[in-house]
Amino acid sequence: MYDLIILGRGPAGLTAAVYAGRAGLKTLVLGKEPLVWKSEKIENYLGFPEGISGQELLEKGREQAEKYGAEFVDELAISVLKAENFTVKTSSKEFESKAIIISTGVSFKLSGIDNEADFVGQGVSYCVTCDGFFFRKKKVCVVGSEDYAANEALELHEISQDVTIFTQSNEPNFSEEMKKKLDAHSITVDTHKIKLLKGNPLVSHIILETGEEIEMNGVFVALGTASSVDFSRTLGVVTEGNFIKVDGLCKTGVEGVFAAGDCTQGPRQIAKAVGQGAVAALSTIEFVKGSVSVDWH
Ligand SMILES: Cc1cc2nc3c(=O)[nH]c(=O)nc-3n(C[C@H](O)[C@H](O)[C@H](O)COP(=O)(O)OP(=O)(O)OC[C@H]3O[C@@H](n4cnc5c(N)ncnc54)[C@H](O)[C@@H]3O)c2cc1C
Repeated sequence: MYDLIILGRGPAGLTAAVYAGRAGLKTLVLGKEPLVWKSEKIENYLGFPEGISGQELLEKGREQAEKYGAEFVDELAISVLKAENFTVKTSSKEFESKAIIISTGVSFKLSGIDNEADFVGQGVSYCVTCDGFFFRKKKVCVVGSEDYAANEALELHEISQDVTIFTQSNEPNFSEEMKKKLDAHSITVDTHKIKLLKGNPLVSHIILETGEEIEMNGVFVALGTASSVDFSRTLGVVTEGNFIKVDGLCKTGVEGVFAAGDCTQGPRQIAKAVGQGAVAALSTIEFVKGSVSVDWH
């Protein structure tokens, strides 16, 4: 059992890990290399007048967090659920914690289906945990090609036995473990692209790029990896567009869930991510321990 699981190891997540580790919280950090890793020179971050590469900044940050006891698992979370504690699943493991900081950066996902927007809430959904129930014993599909989509399909399979994954012409990129689970549940993976949805007012059919029309009641979009917006939906966190709404203390309004960095509103800058990472960690420390060591309010 961890005190804190941090989703993301960009500047926000790493800063949060340093603060949480120094305060003695048992902390786990999940995530992969952020995009800024590739940046050759960051020139506007305080303390590096000559500039610093993204890789060096992030490596130093990780080293610092590890020095204070934070543990790292270089995998992405595919689901986060809240009961008494939080359960975070990656494609191969499951972890529990008392609190969560979401610092997964920005993500924009388009399904590539021309009229997706016309059917949102009318058969198109972005969250199996939230809406799967409405599709009991109906024909459903998941749009995506990564482990996140596989996990959504497996969750759907408990509700409806007729589940297909459409990869929208992408090569399936499922881990071996997920492939085995999909096979064991006879979940079909179809690489065709869904072009259009049909129905009035609810989705009744999907139309593939080939022109083939297939009966379908539910279309769950799960492209790429699970994002802050996906986690927010299952946790009941309020979002505005693609961003998590937080107060000045990086609280989301859901007990034990904090957010920091690009996944919240405002400028996408390292300095802002670092600042919010620190604030989110201090709020978490107060939540877990009931107090913080400095008078920071
Ligand atoms: C090429 C480039 C150059 C930039 N240059 C500058 C600059 O010069 N100055 C500046 O101030 N800003 C710059 N930025 C912007 C800056 O990098 C971001 O504002 C900052 O990285 C945001 O930090 P973050 O921690 O919120 O998110 P990110 O750095 O985006 O990190 C997100 C983390 O979340 C992880 N993650 C995603 N999904 C999941 C999941 N499902 N489970 C677990 N983890 C997950 C990712 O793997 C990653 O580790 C640049 C960005 C890029 C891409």
